[in-house]
Amino acid sequence: MTGPYLIAGNWKMNGLNSSLAVLEETARSCERMDGDVEVVMFLPATLLAVSSIVIKDTKLQLGGQDCSSERSGAFTGEISAEMLKDAGARFVMIGHSERRLRHAEGDDLVRQKAIQAIEVGLTALICIGESGQEKAEGKTLAVLSSQLTYSVPRVSSIDQIVIAYEPTWVTGTCVTPTLDEIAHVHRHIRSELLAHWGDSGQQIRILYGGSVQPSNAAEILAIAEVGGLLVGGASLDAKQFSAICEHGRSVRAAA
Ligand code: PEP
Repeated sequence: MTGPYLIAGNWKMNGLNSSLAVLEETARSCERMDGDVEVVMFLPATLLAVSSIVIKDTKLQLGGQDCSSERSGAFTGEISAEMLKDAGARFVMIGHSERRLRHAEGDDLVRQKAIQAIEVGLTALICIGESGQEKAEGKTLAVLSSQLTYSVPRVSSIDQIVIAYEPTWVTGTCVTPTLDEIAHVHRHIRSELLAHWGDSGQQIRILYGGSVQPSNAAEILAIAEVGGLLVGGASLDAKQFSAICEHGRSVRAAA
């Protein structure tokens, strides 16, 4: 796929004000990125407003890790897409496996959240992925097709949609699928996007996520349909995360 890679970090439920030095270091290293790599960090909502000041005028972009499916009102404890945008986010992650599994979030809710995000002008990074059991039963592609059909809203602004493929049996472990498996799945996702969106489906970025490290980033990025990476654990370490971003730059340069 052409166009810049999107390298996304996911801090999950980690990070205090004392962690902002890590974000500053990451932002400094992003300054070396040219037009071949875009970088976004998905932060806890509590850090977004202060982070947007800390990284002001840098190339690092910010994202929230979830948003409400409602616009505003009596939804105690929820955070709306508009609030994330107001706090400095340009992106929001929706349907991460930890929310799908631990908070029983289904495709309909994921789609409603994505609609809210897109309506306020955020880019919705929608996560999909199969469980270990589904993989063992040979259901990977069917599960992904279904998640794409029901989680991704039918909106015209497809430039505001990014898909992240994260097999849930990989997240937070040290294992990854084989490169052939990643390539096969990404080809399938692309063909589904083309089927749903016509030629414009070619423009939707598909990220790979799950146990990405500096040691495997380049080989995964070199796979044809991989348009970037979603990085969990390694995004908490500015040096490791920057090294992953640098791989994006060198893979593009070599292409
Ligand atoms: C994630 O959960 O979004 C993720 C990519 O995790 P990790 O890189 O730690 O596997």
